[in-house]
Amino acid sequence: MTLGTLLKQGREILQNAGIAEWDLDAWYLLEYVTGVSRSQYFLDPEREVPQEQEVLYHQKIDKRSTHIPLQHLTGEQEFMGLTFKVNEHVLIPRQDTEVLVEEALNYVRSGMDILDVCTGSGCILLSVLKLGEKKCRGILHGTGVDLSREALQVAEENAGRLQVEATFLHSDLFAEVQGQYDMILSNPPYIEKAVVETLEEEVRIHEPRMALDGGEDGLDFYRKITAESVQYLRKGGRLLFEIGYDQGQKVSALMREIGFHDVQVIKDLARKDRVVTGML
Ligand code: GLN
Repeated sequence: MTLGTLLKQGREILQNAGIAEWDLDAWYLLEYVTGVSRSQYFLDPEREVPQEQEVLYHQKIDKRSTHIPLQHLTGEQEFMGLTFKVNEHVLIPRQDTEVLVEEALNYVRSGMDILDVCTGSGCILLSVLKLGEKKCRGILHGTGVDLSREALQVAEENAGRLQVEATFLHSDLFAEVQGQYDMILSNPPYIEKAVVETLEEEVRIHEPRMALDGGEDGLDFYRKITAESVQYLRKGGRLLFEIGYDQGQKVSALMREIGFHDVQVIKDLARKDRVVTGML
Protein backbone atom coordinates (compact mmCIF):
# COMPACT_ATOMS: atom_id res chain seq x y z
CA MET A 1 0.00 0.00 0.00
CA THR A 2 1.19 3.57 -0.68
CA LEU A 3 1.59 6.36 1.85
CA GLY A 4 -1.20 8.26 0.12
CA THR A 5 -3.71 5.41 0.33
CA LEU A 6 -2.86 4.70 3.94
CA LEU A 7 -3.31 8.35 4.92
CA LYS A 8 -6.64 8.50 3.10
CA GLN A 9 -7.86 5.45 5.03
CA GLY A 10 -6.74 6.90 8.36
CA ARG A 11 -8.45 10.22 7.70
CA GLU A 12 -11.70 8.52 6.73
CA ILE A 13 -11.77 6.26 9.77
CA LEU A 14 -11.11 9.13 12.20
CA GLN A 15 -13.61 11.43 10.52
CA ASN A 16 -16.33 8.76 10.62
CA ALA A 17 -15.54 8.16 14.29
CA GLY A 18 -16.22 11.84 14.99
CA ILE A 19 -12.69 12.74 16.06
CA ALA A 20 -12.53 16.54 16.07
CA GLU A 21 -8.94 16.79 14.82
CA TRP A 22 -9.25 13.86 12.41
CA ASP A 23 -7.12 15.33 9.65
CA LEU A 24 -4.25 16.44 11.87
CA ASP A 25 -4.28 13.23 13.90
CA ALA A 26 -4.18 11.01 10.79
CA TRP A 27 -1.11 12.98 9.71
CA TYR A 28 0.62 12.83 13.09
CA LEU A 29 0.15 9.09 13.32
CA LEU A 30 1.43 8.59 9.77
CA GLU A 31 4.56 10.54 10.62
CA TYR A 32 4.91 8.68 13.90
CA VAL A 33 4.57 5.20 12.39
CA THR A 34 6.48 5.64 9.13
CA GLY A 35 8.99 8.32 10.11
CA VAL A 36 8.07 10.14 6.90
CA SER A 37 7.61 13.88 7.49
CA ARG A 38 4.89 15.90 5.83
CA SER A 39 7.28 17.48 3.37
CA GLN A 40 8.84 14.11 2.49
CA TYR A 41 5.34 12.78 1.95
CA PHE A 42 4.50 15.42 -0.62
CA LEU A 43 7.68 14.60 -2.57
CA ASP A 44 6.56 11.00 -2.93
CA PRO A 45 3.01 10.07 -1.84
CA GLU A 46 3.25 6.92 -3.96
CA ARG A 47 5.99 5.45 -1.81
CA GLU A 48 5.24 1.88 -0.69
CA VAL A 49 4.73 1.39 3.03
CA PRO A 50 6.21 -1.78 4.59
CA GLN A 51 3.54 -4.23 5.68
CA GLU A 52 4.32 -3.98 9.40
CA GLN A 53 3.98 -0.18 9.34
CA GLU A 54 0.65 -0.50 7.57
CA VAL A 55 -0.59 -2.83 10.33
CA LEU A 56 0.75 -0.59 13.08
CA TYR A 57 -0.84 2.51 11.53
CA HIS A 58 -4.21 0.82 11.43
CA GLN A 59 -3.84 -0.27 15.05
CA LYS A 60 -3.10 3.30 16.13
CA ILE A 61 -5.92 4.74 14.03
CA ASP A 62 -8.38 2.23 15.50
CA LYS A 63 -7.33 3.19 19.02
CA ARG A 64 -7.58 6.90 18.23
CA SER A 65 -11.09 6.35 16.89
CA THR A 66 -12.10 5.16 20.38
CA HIS A 67 -11.06 8.63 21.66
CA ILE A 68 -7.78 7.54 23.25
CA PRO A 69 -5.72 10.77 23.16
CA LEU A 70 -3.12 11.02 20.43
CA GLN A 71 -0.39 11.55 23.04
CA HIS A 72 -1.18 8.22 24.67
CA LEU A 73 -0.57 6.56 21.31
CA THR A 74 2.71 8.31 20.63
CA GLY A 75 3.71 8.35 24.32
CA GLU A 76 4.94 11.91 24.23
CA GLN A 77 4.11 15.61 24.15
CA GLU A 78 6.19 18.68 23.39
CA PHE A 79 6.21 21.39 26.04
CA MET A 80 8.49 24.45 26.17
CA GLY A 81 10.39 22.96 23.23
CA LEU A 82 11.20 19.83 25.24
CA THR A 83 9.78 16.34 24.74
CA PHE A 84 7.99 14.76 27.70
CA LYS A 85 6.96 11.17 28.12
CA VAL A 86 3.28 10.86 29.02
CA ASN A 87 0.84 8.08 29.81
CA GLU A 88 -2.62 7.68 31.30
CA HIS A 89 -1.32 8.49 34.80
CA VAL A 90 -0.41 12.12 34.06
CA LEU A 91 -2.19 15.11 32.62
CA ILE A 92 -0.94 15.72 29.08
CA PRO A 93 1.06 18.98 29.15
CA ARG A 94 -1.02 21.86 27.74
CA GLN A 95 0.34 24.80 25.83
CA ASP A 96 -1.52 27.16 28.21
CA THR A 97 0.72 25.95 31.01
CA GLU A 98 3.76 27.40 29.25
CA VAL A 99 2.59 30.78 30.58
CA LEU A 100 3.24 29.53 34.13
CA VAL A 101 6.74 28.36 33.18
CA GLU A 102 7.54 31.63 31.43
CA GLU A 103 6.37 33.61 34.43
CA ALA A 104 8.46 31.45 36.79
CA LEU A 105 11.51 31.98 34.56
CA ASN A 106 11.22 35.74 35.21
CA TYR A 107 12.07 35.12 38.86
CA VAL A 108 14.80 32.46 38.77
CA ARG A 109 18.12 33.31 40.40
CA SER A 110 21.02 30.93 40.89
CA GLY A 111 20.78 28.88 44.07
CA MET A 112 16.99 29.00 44.37
CA ASP A 113 14.99 26.14 45.87
CA ILE A 114 11.87 25.49 43.81
CA LEU A 115 8.91 23.29 44.78
CA ASP A 116 6.28 22.03 42.32
CA VAL A 117 3.09 20.80 44.00
CA CYS A 118 1.03 18.29 41.94
CA THR A 119 3.93 17.79 39.56
CA GLY A 120 2.37 15.08 37.35
CA SER A 121 4.66 14.47 34.37
CA GLY A 122 7.10 16.97 35.89
CA CYS A 123 6.78 19.19 32.83
CA ILE A 124 6.56 22.45 34.80
CA LEU A 125 9.37 21.78 37.25
CA LEU A 126 11.71 20.20 34.71
CA SER A 127 11.33 22.94 32.13
CA VAL A 128 11.84 25.64 34.78
CA LEU A 129 15.02 23.84 35.92
CA LYS A 130 16.33 23.12 32.43
CA LEU A 131 15.62 26.54 30.92
CA GLY A 132 16.09 28.44 34.19
CA GLU A 133 19.63 27.20 34.76
CA LYS A 134 20.57 28.37 31.29
CA LYS A 135 18.90 31.71 31.89
CA CYS A 136 20.48 32.48 35.27
CA ARG A 137 23.74 30.68 34.43
CA GLY A 138 23.65 28.94 37.75
CA ILE A 139 22.19 26.08 39.70
CA LEU A 140 18.59 25.56 40.73
CA HIS A 141 17.32 22.95 43.19
CA GLY A 142 13.96 21.45 42.33
CA THR A 143 11.52 19.24 44.19
CA GLY A 144 8.30 17.87 42.74
CA VAL A 145 5.53 16.26 44.79
CA ASP A 146 2.51 14.27 43.77
CA LEU A 147 -0.06 11.98 45.37
CA SER A 148 0.25 9.54 42.46
CA ARG A 149 3.20 7.15 42.56
CA GLU A 150 2.58 6.31 38.89
CA ALA A 151 2.86 9.99 37.98
CA LEU A 152 6.11 10.28 39.92
CA GLN A 153 7.56 7.43 37.90
CA VAL A 154 6.81 9.36 34.72
CA ALA A 155 8.34 12.51 36.20
CA GLU A 156 11.50 10.60 37.17
CA GLU A 157 11.79 9.20 33.70
CA ASN A 158 11.38 12.66 32.19
CA ALA A 159 14.11 14.03 34.45
CA GLY A 160 16.42 11.26 33.24
CA ARG A 161 15.63 11.82 29.58
CA LEU A 162 16.13 15.57 29.86
CA GLN A 163 19.20 15.14 32.05
CA VAL A 164 17.82 17.41 34.74
CA GLU A 165 18.46 16.77 38.43
CA ALA A 166 15.37 16.98 40.57
CA THR A 167 13.95 15.32 43.68
CA PHE A 168 10.55 13.70 43.45
CA LEU A 169 8.55 12.95 46.55
CA HIS A 170 5.37 11.00 47.15
CA SER A 171 3.29 13.43 49.17
CA ASP A 172 -0.29 14.59 49.63
CA LEU A 173 0.39 18.27 48.92
CA PHE A 174 2.87 19.42 51.64
CA ALA A 175 2.48 16.40 53.95
CA GLU A 176 6.01 15.06 53.34
CA VAL A 177 7.66 18.35 52.36
CA GLN A 178 10.44 19.71 54.52
CA GLY A 179 12.43 22.92 54.52
CA GLN A 180 11.71 26.21 52.81
CA TYR A 181 11.58 27.33 49.22
CA ASP A 182 12.06 30.49 47.19
CA MET A 183 9.37 29.63 44.71
CA ILE A 184 6.35 27.32 44.84
CA LEU A 185 4.67 26.40 41.57
CA SER A 186 1.45 24.51 41.04
CA ASN A 187 -1.01 23.56 38.34
CA PRO A 188 -3.44 21.80 40.66
CA PRO A 189 -6.72 20.15 39.68
CA TYR A 190 -9.07 23.12 39.20
CA ILE A 191 -12.10 22.06 37.23
CA GLU A 192 -15.45 22.18 39.05
CA LYS A 193 -16.63 18.67 39.84
CA ALA A 194 -19.82 19.05 37.77
CA VAL A 195 -17.93 20.48 34.80
CA VAL A 196 -15.55 17.49 34.63
CA GLU A 197 -18.51 15.43 33.38
CA THR A 198 -18.98 17.77 30.42
CA LEU A 199 -15.39 17.57 29.13
CA GLU A 200 -14.57 15.78 25.88
CA GLU A 201 -14.14 12.03 26.12
CA GLU A 202 -10.37 12.21 25.57
CA VAL A 203 -10.03 14.19 28.81
CA ARG A 204 -13.00 12.90 30.83
CA ILE A 205 -12.30 9.19 30.32
CA HIS A 206 -8.62 8.96 29.48
CA GLU A 207 -6.88 11.62 31.57
CA PRO A 208 -6.48 11.15 35.33
CA ARG A 209 -9.56 12.43 37.14
CA MET A 210 -7.44 13.27 40.16
CA ALA A 211 -5.51 15.79 38.05
CA LEU A 212 -8.69 17.60 36.99
CA ASP A 213 -11.30 17.59 39.75
CA GLY A 214 -10.93 20.68 41.94
CA GLY A 215 -14.02 20.00 44.08
CA GLU A 216 -17.46 21.64 44.04
CA ASP A 217 -16.25 25.13 43.10
CA GLY A 218 -12.90 24.08 41.59
CA LEU A 219 -10.97 25.97 44.27
CA ASP A 220 -10.24 23.24 46.84
CA PHE A 221 -6.54 22.98 46.00
CA TYR A 222 -5.99 26.74 45.81
CA ARG A 223 -7.38 27.10 49.33
CA LYS A 224 -5.19 24.33 50.75
CA ILE A 225 -2.00 25.15 48.87
CA THR A 226 -2.23 28.90 49.53
CA ALA A 227 -2.80 28.43 53.25
CA GLU A 228 -0.08 25.79 53.69
CA SER A 229 2.50 27.42 51.41
CA VAL A 230 3.08 30.15 53.99
CA GLN A 231 5.02 27.67 56.10
CA TYR A 232 7.20 26.53 53.19
CA LEU A 233 7.98 29.83 51.49
CA ARG A 234 10.92 32.00 52.50
CA LYS A 235 10.22 35.67 53.09
CA GLY A 236 10.16 37.34 49.70
CA GLY A 237 9.36 33.99 48.09
CA ARG A 238 6.74 33.65 45.42
CA LEU A 239 3.75 31.39 44.85
CA LEU A 240 2.65 30.85 41.23
CA PHE A 241 -0.51 29.05 40.19
CA GLU A 242 -2.04 28.06 36.90
CA ILE A 243 -5.76 28.84 37.07
CA GLY A 244 -8.89 28.37 34.98
CA TYR A 245 -9.98 31.34 32.84
CA ASP A 246 -12.66 32.43 35.37
CA GLN A 247 -10.70 31.95 38.60
CA GLY A 248 -8.37 34.99 38.51
CA GLN A 249 -10.32 37.17 40.94
CA LYS A 250 -11.17 34.38 43.37
CA VAL A 251 -7.65 32.99 43.59
CA SER A 252 -6.18 36.52 43.91
CA ALA A 253 -8.57 37.22 46.79
CA LEU A 254 -7.59 33.95 48.50
CA MET A 255 -3.92 34.83 48.25
CA ARG A 256 -4.39 38.39 49.58
CA GLU A 257 -6.44 37.08 52.50
CA ILE A 258 -3.59 34.79 53.53
CA GLY A 259 -1.10 37.67 53.38
CA PHE A 260 0.41 37.59 49.89
CA HIS A 261 1.20 40.91 48.27
CA ASP A 262 2.10 42.01 44.75
CA VAL A 263 -0.67 39.63 43.58
CA GLN A 264 -0.93 39.63 39.79
CA VAL A 265 -3.10 37.85 37.23
CA ILE A 266 -1.37 36.99 33.95
CA LYS A 267 -3.14 36.19 30.71
CA ASP A 268 -2.43 33.45 28.16
CA LEU A 269 -2.08 33.86 24.39
CA ALA A 270 -5.88 33.72 24.03
CA ARG A 271 -6.07 36.75 26.40
CA LYS A 272 -7.66 34.66 29.12
CA ASP A 273 -6.59 34.76 32.77
CA ARG A 274 -4.18 31.84 33.22
CA VAL A 275 -1.69 32.45 36.02
CA VAL A 276 -1.83 34.12 39.44
CA THR A 277 1.33 34.98 41.34
CA GLY A 278 1.98 36.60 44.68
CA MET A 279 4.83 37.32 47.05
CA LEU A 280 5.03 36.54 50.72
N1 GLN B 1 -6.26 22.89 31.68
C1 GLN B 1 -6.70 21.56 31.93
C2 GLN B 1 -7.87 21.24 31.02
O1 GLN B 1 -8.37 22.09 30.36
C3 GLN B 1 -7.07 21.38 33.38
C4 GLN B 1 -5.86 21.34 34.22
C5 GLN B 1 -6.12 21.32 35.66
O2 GLN B 1 -7.20 21.01 36.20
N2 GLN B 1 -5.11 21.64 36.32
O3 GLN B 1 -8.29 20.11 30.91
